Amino acid sequence: MKEKILVVEDSRTFRNYLYQQLNNAGYDVEAAQSVAEAKIILERETNFLCTVLDYCLPDGQDGEIIDVVLSYQQKIIVLTRIFNNTLREAVLAKGVIDYILKDNFSPVSYLLPLIKRISNNRNHKALVVDDSTVVRRYIVQLLEHQYIQTIEAEDGAHALRVLNKNNDITFIVTDHDMPNKDGISMTHEIRKNYDRNQLAILGLSGSDDRTLTARFLKAGANDFLYKPFNQEEFFCRIHQILDMKEATNELLRHANEDALTGLWNRRYMFSQLPTIPSKRSIAMMDIDLFKNVNDTYGHDAGDAVLIEVGRIIKNFFTNDLTVRFGGEEFCILTSGPFVQFVEALESMRSAIEDYEICHNSNKIKVSVSIGATDLQAPLDKQIKAADKLLYTAKQQGKNQVIFARNNFQLDNEK
Ligand code: GH3
Ligand code: MG
Ligand code: MG
Repeated sequence: MKEKILVVEDSRTFRNYLYQQLNNAGYDVEAAQSVAEAKIILERETNFLCTVLDYCLPDGQDGEIIDVVLSYQQKIIVLTRIFNNTLREAVLAKGVIDYILKDNFSPVSYLLPLIKRISNNRNHKALVVDDSTVVRRYIVQLLEHQYIQTIEAEDGAHALRVLNKNNDITFIVTDHDMPNKDGISMTHEIRKNYDRNQLAILGLSGSDDRTLTARFLKAGANDFLYKPFNQEEFFCRIHQILDMKEATNELLRHANEDALTGLWNRRYMFSQLPTIPSKRSIAMMDIDLFKNVNDTYGHDAGDAVLIEVGRIIKNFFTNDLTVRFGGEEFCILTSGPFVQFVEALESMRSAIEDYEICHNSNKIKVSVSIGATDLQAPLDKQIKAADKLLYTAKQQGKNQVIFARNNFQLDNEK
């Protein structure tokens, strides 16, 4: 569903321009030209991702719109022509997300990435580490104000325990001087298991020791900020850290994912080798007579079949490594019990056999052949063994699972 944004702006030209830009960026926009109109909209609905407000409106020349919109618990970005530091401070102190100067149409190039940032923030969870409850609460409040989920720890040692139990933490904001374990030692320790993209760290410190920045960064922190900091500076750092993390993850995803099916690619599978338990089972799977699909219904239909088969594989093996090995060949790696693995493969085979793939009014049916083994060997040997079993499945009439246990006595399933 599209996210909603409320724009309140009295200049028709600028209002239309904002409307168009936000619409093109994929948002559902409600536009109002006065405080009164905005109130009518807010009486009706309040589920806006954020609101973009002109500071000066005909029926509220002095930012009255801000308090009105705040009373409906909405997030606010203020646009203004007035450059005035006192005003800026006052507006930000109210809990407004940002204060953007309206010089010609350039604010949009700042506004759009900011809104996208706020929207993406909901996918992040910060671990806030500080021995001072007051500071911790202040940082938590800042982060939550921008939709970032938070979890707290009182010192470095506590943070490591919290981190172990919560694998959805995406970044850490940490003080340095703390009992039990300081921020720099904690950062050092975290970097043994997580790189800077997996888990970003922003160091903070109220100390006047000017060597802290370099020490934090050398320990592996992504950035560092002296306390007390100004709210805007804090958000600039947080936004930069999260933008960088997302861009890197996106690059990694492109490099590791098969573009058609969204399954992992072969390159990724081999790169993950060090982290895959050595006691694992493998299945190689190939779509039967797939060339016929292309020849009969066209290449697009073949692609649609690959996408659907990929989706079924993912559904059956959510917690396993599912890979498009190449062409119409797939590979599944699991560290679970082999008997259950073979049962799941058989259910999947049967589900694929029964499934009708609709493409351009054609109903296409395919089947798959699968070879599976829990042979304990290096990955390339395991792949070869599973491939051999897959070949047997093809020779014995396709649409079947052939598996062999570690001792490699061939069994025929089905
Ligand atoms: P078998 O039952 O022996 O596996 O027969 P098959 O026709 O499935 O096998 P074959 O290897 O002869 O043909 C595989 C075909 O898959 C040939 C190739 O053009 C097609 N193919 C490979 N990758 C893609 C793709 O990304 N999209 C489409 N549409 N076709 C692809
Ligand atoms: Mg095939
Ligand atoms: Mg093939």
